[in-house]
Amino acid sequence: MKYRQLGKTGWKVSVLGLGASPLGGAFGKVDEKEGVKTVHTAVDLGINFIDVAPFYGSTRAETILGKALKEISRERFYLATKVGRYGASVEDFDFSAQRVIQSVDESLRRLKLSHIDLIQCHDVEFAPWAQLVQETIPALEKLKTTGKVRQIGVTGFPLPLLKKLGDLKPIDTVLSYCHYCLTDTTLVRILAPLKAKNVGVINASPFAMGLLTEKGPPPWHPAPANYRDICASAVDHCKKRKRDLSKLALQFAASNRDISTTLVGTSNPKNLRNAAKWVEDRVEEDLLAEVQTLLKPILNQPWEGGLEKNS
Ligand code: NAD
Repeated sequence: MKYRQLGKTGWKVSVLGLGASPLGGAFGKVDEKEGVKTVHTAVDLGINFIDVAPFYGSTRAETILGKALKEISRERFYLATKVGRYGASVEDFDFSAQRVIQSVDESLRRLKLSHIDLIQCHDVEFAPWAQLVQETIPALEKLKTTGKVRQIGVTGFPLPLLKKLGDLKPIDTVLSYCHYCLTDTTLVRILAPLKAKNVGVINASPFAMGLLTEKGPPPWHPAPANYRDICASAVDHCKKRKRDLSKLALQFAASNRDISTTLVGTSNPKNLRNAAKWVEDRVEEDLLAEVQTLLKPILNQPWEGGLEKNS
């Protein structure tokens, strides 16, 4: 496993991180034992960055993670979780100081930890700007002084907003999703300004939330039919060549050195073992070029409604 600096945190994080939304059932049924095994496999593979949220499976992902993490020594991983989002609809956001402080305590209990390495405001496009800047982030800064959290980050979909938040002094990291993968590379537009501020960049959803896998996307995926069809044709193209599009997708997403870590969302140890192997393998440039040609009609075209349905 290779490691990269995560902005000004001083941490060296693995190029692959574990994305724990599948532990909450975002991509299908989860077997708890298998979930615990996935976390242990991640750490054994050298993955030292794990991302979760209270929202995932209505706290189930954090609960399963807590069971897994209690058997792992604390210095082997950085744990990132989130505040502000607690359900699928717009009414389920609460970025008030009182709620986020309570939320951190609840996460600590579920995770069975005494501190959270990175606390992130979850899907900031749903937070009123004034509240975020004047109330939420200052509340998290206060929590930092108690030692309950170590670093502060933001997550979300719209890149200009992530860049704007990255300009704020208290922000250590930015998590973007579906913006640096085979179907969308627009994250590059904000990499230089974030680097200039020494803000760490976390890239989520290397498989475009399942579109770039043989299994395909979950029913809630916001991509329209033509988007799904084109991705399915890329999967078929690779299959005909006895290759797996997921491998190419992950190699591509994890290749940019200005991105510190790329989160693989899975509750399956085999997926992680494959992922760890894939990032070490040579990229088949001819196949990559063929797939990029197939995906060109949808490249860098975000879907409508992506904000409401994000994981
Ligand atoms: P993803 O792109 O990682 O895709 C997940 C899908 O890919 C699942 O169906 C999984 O089974 C499959 N998969 C995983 N590894 C595979 C492999 N080796 N081979 C074949 N298929 C494989 O999508 P994601 O889970 O949404 O993103 C990763 C993580 O990023 C999330 O779990 C979450 O932690 C984080 N994230 C955060 C936000 C946010 O904060 N707003 C949004 C999206 C994702």
